[in-house]
Amino acid sequence: MSLVVQKYGGTSVGSVERIQAVAQRASATAQKGNSLVVVVSAMGKTTDGLVKLAREISTNPCRREMDMLLSTGEQVSIALLSMALKELGQPAISLTGAQVGIVTEAQHSHARILHIQTERIVRHLNEGKVVVVAGFQGISSTEELEITTLGRGGSDTSAVALAASLGADRCEIYTDVPGILTTDPRLVPDAQLMEEITSDEMLELASLGAKVLHPRAVEIARNYGMPLVVLSSWTDEPGTLVVSPMSQPRSLRDLEIARSVTTVEFDPDQAKVALLRVPDCPGVAARLFGEIALQELDVDLIIQSIHEGNTNDIAFTVNSAILKRAEAVAEAIAPALRSQTGTDSQEAEVMVDRNVAKISIAGAGMIGRPGIAAKMFTALASAGINIGMISTSEVKVSCVIDAQDCDSAIAILCQTFEISSSPIQIPVSSAEVLVLKDKESSRKTSTSLNVGIPTAKELPSVRGVALDLNQVRLAIRNVPDHPGMAAQLFGLLAKENISVDMIIQSQRCRVIDGNPTRDIAFTVSQADAQAAQMTLQQAASILGYGTILLDQEIAKVSIVGAGMVGQPGVATRMFAALAAEQINIQMIATSEIKISCVVNKEQGVSALKAIHSAFGLAGSQKIEVRA
Ligand code: ASP
Ligand code: MG
Repeated sequence: MSLVVQKYGGTSVGSVERIQAVAQRASATAQKGNSLVVVVSAMGKTTDGLVKLAREISTNPCRREMDMLLSTGEQVSIALLSMALKELGQPAISLTGAQVGIVTEAQHSHARILHIQTERIVRHLNEGKVVVVAGFQGISSTEELEITTLGRGGSDTSAVALAASLGADRCEIYTDVPGILTTDPRLVPDAQLMEEITSDEMLELASLGAKVLHPRAVEIARNYGMPLVVLSSWTDEPGTLVVSPMSQPRSLRDLEIARSVTTVEFDPDQAKVALLRVPDCPGVAARLFGEIALQELDVDLIIQSIHEGNTNDIAFTVNSAILKRAEAVAEAIAPALRSQTGTDSQEAEVMVDRNVAKISIAGAGMIGRPGIAAKMFTALASAGINIGMISTSEVKVSCVIDAQDCDSAIAILCQTFEISSSPIQIPVSSAEVLVLKDKESSRKTSTSLNVGIPTAKELPSVRGVALDLNQVRLAIRNVPDHPGMAAQLFGLLAKENISVDMIIQSQRCRVIDGNPTRDIAFTVSQADAQAAQMTLQQAASILGYGTILLDQEIAKVSIVGAGMVGQPGVATRMFAALAAEQINIQMIATSEIKISCVVNKEQGVSALKAIHSAFGLAGSQKIEVRA
């Protein structure tokens, strides 16, 4: 007998018939002897309807009243589902967030969960009842019972937080797709279902088309080692298992806010190779990294900054041991790249930095918290450390610094983010880390599911491909190259609550009035574009940087897979797929398990298709998506 939490989304409870079907499934689960908690969303598009009503009354309704309003949607579905269960002869009881005691921050409309009182749920479970809990809602205080909501799509988060707090054996998320797919099936019809994905990969795929899981839910699952299953409420197919390494035991207090950064990682022994002024046209990155892959050289970070005139800079890091060979490839290819477009007047140049270190902070908690990267940059600046390269992904920020600064960087970052566990030296494949961590935890695994953690070799190099069409790119020209600049820039944006996605600092150094400067480019969501541009423009003269350029016509395509660590040639395959479609790459940023490219918006979907098929992810299974 297991303790199971099931969550049903809006479409799954969109009508009386659907609610009855959910009741059937839930009672069948309970009949098998499981203790069952069911979390539901509001029926169909109810929440959207409520938002619309409010807007008809006020253009800017107060957030407290919005929470009061929106939380009613879930109250309807829990009551109806309980009735449906009782009709089937299954004892059940519905509970609101307040009745359970789901305590959140006092932040209307986007509260994070602090802790969940489980006594009442446990009591009803022991009485043999299915407990039906309203998702998406909580209370900010057990005295005043102020109703809060978790933010749109938040009932996934309610479900996983409940599962973690109850110590459930697993959490099942029922939705309108059969599970997690290799990409968005509405854009790429031959997308396939994944049997399994790690929570780290899932977090990196946060923007993956079908948006089946709320990233905060994945974050909780990962932090508490909770097995998640994503599956269709229309079929009996097994769905996708999201596996998490069992982390150290964690307190159930401050559940969602305890830690934004969980590890500091470093590699003290890297070298940087930069190619300056390579032609800005399709195929250049493919050619360079194709050559490098031919030599079986494993590249770590890759960064391509925005173009200037008709040329680009591409930089990458490798382990020092293979620097000589990587440098030789770059030197050999530079003249060929020049003649490729006939831009002979431009001198492509290879620049090598032998002694650099990579230092990273990682943690799922940094999603949607714009201050984290800024805090890292500030900490480094306070130790007088200059940042040479920055590369970011959803759950990681990496900086390349002078090798001699590595120790002090580790110290200041551990102190800043209160990391007591020892920093992790990389390169260790994240797959190995995963396997190691899980070995420690296998004693504790009590799930009835077969949560097989794949070995490093079994992990596919690329698991899924994602397209984000909702970002814009901002570039700041001529940022003075000294410690503290990145900290100030991203600190300004963080103050405005603007989340920055991909950040890239150019390699090319331009001397202005005797001072070295570099360009910094980054992406933010469309909604934040104007605010970000204005904020930066206002500070331009004080901080002494040049113009701010805004490009709205961009798309970000990413590949994610834990198996790409230590596997040469993955990046090349992505770049080559783009080159074959004549798609120009405008920016590149990488993490250990992810590579993202910015391309022209119009080419976004064809880029996605090309990459999806280049990694052999396409299949013939027909995926149905319910409206
Ligand atoms: N009903 C809420 C929404 O539509 C929560 C959810 O569905 O997860 O955002
Ligand atoms: Mg939802």
